[in-house]
Amino acid sequence: MAVPKRRTSKTRKRKRRTHWKLSAPNLVECPQCSEAKLSHRVCPECGFYKGRKVK
Ligand SMILES: [Zn+2]
Repeated sequence: MAVPKRRTSKTRKRKRRTHWKLSAPNLVECPQCSEAKLSHRVCPECGFYKGRKVK
């Protein structure tokens, strides 16, 4: 297994982590019951997806 030759400096570690962050969930309004739901997911409130009942 490859082993790092040099210790990662505080600056280098911190610079790498500048791109490491959470993004807000992609909420859209359900066309069936107008509840907030995740896009490309079955609605947890009414179970509809693409205009038909899935569950
Ligand atoms: Zn719904």
